[in-house]
Amino acid sequence: MKKLFTVLLVLLLVFIAFLAFRTLTFSSRQHSVSPVPKTAVSDSAKFHLAKAIRIKTISPEDPQDFDSVAFHQFRNFLQKTYPLTQEKLAPKVINEFSLLYKWQGSDTRLKPVILMGHLDVVPVAEETLKEWKATPFGGEIKHGHIWGRGAIDDKMSIIGILEATEMLLKQGFQPKRTIYLAFGHDEEVGGKYGAQAIVKHLQTENIQAEFVVCHHPKTGSRPGNRRSVDRNFGERIYLAGTYGQRGRRPFFHAAKRNGHRCNFPGNIQAPAKTI
Ligand SMILES: [Zn+2]
Repeated sequence: MKKLFTVLLVLLLVFIAFLAFRTLTFSSRQHSVSPVPKTAVSDSAKFHLAKAIRIKTISPEDPQDFDSVAFHQFRNFLQKTYPLTQEKLAPKVINEFSLLYKWQGSDTRLKPVILMGHLDVVPVAEETLKEWKATPFGGEIKHGHIWGRGAIDDKMSIIGILEATEMLLKQGFQPKRTIYLAFGHDEEVGGKYGAQAIVKHLQTENIQAEFVVCHHPKTGSRPGNRRSVDRNFGERIYLAGTYGQRGRRPFFHAAKRNGHRCNFPGNIQAPAKTI
C-alpha cells in the first residue's frame, strides 16, 4: 500500500513538474503586427448605416412575401450614397438583386480578394416586438450605438466596405490586388439566388481568390458550409469581427428554416457600435 502511495506521489510530482515546465516555456503564437494608423471616418457614415437599417430588405419565411421594392430601394440608396463606387466599380446585378462589384487591381498577376456581405435581414416576429430596446427598422442612434435589425448582420459589413471604398476612390487609390465586393440578397434563406449565383458567375470567369473576408463562418458562404467558399472562392477565409455589447459574441440561433438568426439572447438585435 505504502509502495503504491509512493508511486502515485512520484507520478503527481512528475506531472506538476511537467505542467510547470510547459507553463514557463509557453510562448504566444500570435503574430506580432503593428497597428495601422486610425483612419478618420466621416460622420455621415453612421447616418448611412442608420438609413440602411430603415430599408426593410427582409428575406421572409415564405418567398411569396418577398418585397422586391425594398431591394430596389436599397440599391438606389447605395447608388446615390456611393456615386464613385457606382461609377468606377460598376456593380454587376445578379438575379435582379445581388451585387458584384469589381475593383481592378494594378497587378493582374495577383489573385483577387473577395469581401462578402449580404443585403437581406431576417424578419421581426410580431410577438418579439415588446422585447426590442429600439424599433427594429428605426435605425436609431442612441447611447453611442446604432440600433436595428441588420445593424451587425449584415448592413454593417455592406456600409463599412462601401464607406471605405468610396473614401479610397476619392483619394485616387487603386489596390494592387483586384478586389471583389460580393453582396448576396438571400443569405438568410440559403443564398441560392445570391451567393450561390455569384459563385457560379466567378467560376465561369475562372476566378480563384487569394482569400475571402466574410462575417460568419458558414452562412456567408451558403450553400451550406464554409468548404463551398474554400473550394469556389479561395483557400483562406477571414472572419470579420461580429462582436457586440461588452464583448459578447452574438448568439446564433438556427431556426427551423434555412439561413439563421443572429440575435442576442432576448431577441435584441445586436447594435453596431457607432462608427
Ligand atoms: Zn449574416
